[in-house]
Amino acid sequence: MCAFLLANRDWMAPQFADSRSLDVFSLQIANSAAKLAGCGAWLLFGEHRQKLDVELLQAQFCQQTYLCLFCQARRSYRNITAYQAKLRQVETDYPGCSFLLATFTIPNTADLAAGIQLQKTAFRKLWDRQKQRGTGPLAGAMGAVYSVEITGGADTLWHPHMHAILAMKPESGGFVSFPKLRAEWCALTGGRQIRIDRMHGSRDLNEALKYTVKPQQAGEDGLGLLQRAKVWGMLAGKRIRMLQPYGVLKGIPDELPLDQDFSVEDYTLFFYRWLSGEYIAGEVDLARLKRR
Ligand SMILES: [Zn+2]
Repeated sequence: MCAFLLANRDWMAPQFADSRSLDVFSLQIANSAAKLAGCGAWLLFGEHRQKLDVELLQAQFCQQTYLCLFCQARRSYRNITAYQAKLRQVETDYPGCSFLLATFTIPNTADLAAGIQLQKTAFRKLWDRQKQRGTGPLAGAMGAVYSVEITGGADTLWHPHMHAILAMKPESGGFVSFPKLRAEWCALTGGRQIRIDRMHGSRDLNEALKYTVKPQQAGEDGLGLLQRAKVWGMLAGKRIRMLQPYGVLKGIPDELPLDQDFSVEDYTLFFYRWLSGEYIAGEVDLARLKRR
């Protein structure tokens, strides 16, 4: 990806500079490429002394989740872990509640940012009606979280869509009127289709919260280098929240740090540094890691 950005810099800069000056954006491309090159320069693993699981605790992350599959997978893992705990907590706090998995789509679009914004605004409108008047197709919901996923359409257009988890009030019996929700969604967005399923455990949670941009390895419809570079060009710096919680599912910070807090007593640590094309085991210098 790093080499790809540098090789395509002259072509990308004028295409995606938008309101940014060409020089500044061109520099930004070079900066991003440099950060990508340094991503994963060191890794800190820990083997938990009781559970004996080996976890990646910290690393040199470039934090460019549109561009970097490593950081994207890490962000996804952190979010899934946090929301798994959140859902368990809601289940305990509201006995008899249930969870639905809803997918919202709009027609494929050339303007990716506008397409995402259209969906976010539509969901907010549906949610506000529930919150302020207790009416509308989401009346039975007490919480929600959605993530925006971007795939390429069959044509040259983009297909941004939203996977949402709806936390349903116990008294709702987990019921949402599908025709009503679809009709309102389509009226707000010009979309054609939504989908609602009952959630079956953690696999559905992963589906709802997984990569906002599908990595190439994830399947045939995953985005390749060129498409990921375009997504970054179109969305970088726009501060669009791709993961949005509502109601009882709120409370998890927007940008969970990719590093994991840990206490040294719980883990046996292993440190690796990328050197001349391979990872070399080294001494852990925690004081130095903390200072970075
Ligand atoms: Zn990275």
